[in-house]
Amino acid sequence: MATNLPTTGIEPQTERRPEAHPDRWPDRLRRSAVVLLGGLLGLSAAVVLGGLSPSFASLVFLCIVAAALVPWRLRQDMPASEDRIGLRPAETPVAQALVSGMPEAAVLLDRAGRVLQFNLAASQLAPALRRNELALFALRSPEIIAALRQAISTREPQRAMYVDRVPIERWMEVIVTPLALPAAFGGTESCLMMTFHDQTPLRRAEEMRADFVANASHELRTPLAALSGFIDTLQGQAKDDPKARERFLGIMHAQATRMARLIDDLLSLSRVELSAHVRPDAQVDLVSVVRQVIDGLEPLAKERGVTIATQLPDTPVVIAGDQEELLRLFENLIENGLKYGASGGRVVVALNDDQPGEGTGETRVSVRDFGPGIAPEHLPRLTERFYRVDVVDSRAQGGTGLGLSLVKHILNRHRGRLLIESVPGQGATFTAAFPHPKASPLP
Ligand code: ADP
Repeated sequence: MATNLPTTGIEPQTERRPEAHPDRWPDRLRRSAVVLLGGLLGLSAAVVLGGLSPSFASLVFLCIVAAALVPWRLRQDMPASEDRIGLRPAETPVAQALVSGMPEAAVLLDRAGRVLQFNLAASQLAPALRRNELALFALRSPEIIAALRQAISTREPQRAMYVDRVPIERWMEVIVTPLALPAAFGGTESCLMMTFHDQTPLRRAEEMRADFVANASHELRTPLAALSGFIDTLQGQAKDDPKARERFLGIMHAQATRMARLIDDLLSLSRVELSAHVRPDAQVDLVSVVRQVIDGLEPLAKERGVTIATQLPDTPVVIAGDQEELLRLFENLIENGLKYGASGGRVVVALNDDQPGEGTGETRVSVRDFGPGIAPEHLPRLTERFYRVDVVDSRAQGGTGLGLSLVKHILNRHRGRLLIESVPGQGATFTAAFPHPKASPLP
């Protein structure tokens, strides 16, 4: 195994496991021999010069031999005791407990990059990890190898990002931290702690944020470019053409309205997101909210040649909600029906309220149109921000692509759900379902 090391650039380290300390015994023997020799010389001198009796001197010498050699014999017969004394700091139960207790994948390595300890999360991340083997054999990513090499040579903490592709693609961050673990009998042992952090959710959020900013800027830039183009035209060739001026001003008004609407939708979306965790608790009558929205949209319905039919109860249906958000929600759904389903000539708004304990346990408000409908492949994506089935059509209708996303967020805040059904050619039904107070999950 050590022959492979030059390819990784990491120097091999001689094993220092407890049983691998053969040099300690000759050391002790040497010390015993010195004691015996000293004792022998001292006693001989005392016999020759001091008149000590040889038999007494022999007795004393025997005692010295016993004192010097017997403990050594005992130690040799007690390997368990030596194990305890020779245990490396990185192999103590404390080190083991620390590594096992880490919430994310963690591997403790010796200074050469050999695995000493690792936890369950690490073994799931790299099933090939083995104690006393180089970590690099189990973690083959070049970014990890580079970080480990750097940490070993500089003794500085290193961090690196890499992509783990098995079993699913994950963005991982590895941090290699050099440590000096104190030994029980003085000194320290140099180790490396390697921890792995799953950065995939952060990365996804960051990608979504970047996409959102790019989409929002693009949506704002389009009407802005149209506005500045028409301003140029009005200042130039159309300056003295009253007919063209009238037409261009009309287009400019529509573009400015679109921009204002987009900003409005963006602000509403961020407001709803900010309060997503606070469940609205005001008492709101859904019937009057829906009627108010229909009244406000009558001019648009007339303009598009669509009649709005209602199937609403005569008595109030009260839910815990936010009046402004619910107005916005039904405005979006009914307006979409009028805009995209205009060819059907009819939009039906119905409210079904189950009695507690029967049916779905929900209060449902459905908006049905009889227009072209929506192809099934688009249905799961309709509530994504800026998603449109037909971008040109949506823009021509003054759409921002944020309406249904806002509807979904408002419903989430009300612990409700949005159901979308459509048969292409036969129209679409959008249903806002609110749970009955008893059936709703706790906030
Ligand atoms: P927009 O501002 O474009 O209307 P929405 O989020 O409200 O954005 O709707 C997203 C897309 O869903 C629309 O662009 C349109 O393509 C499609 N859509 C929404 N409602 C309907 C409907 N009733 N019939 C057909 N298509 C619809």
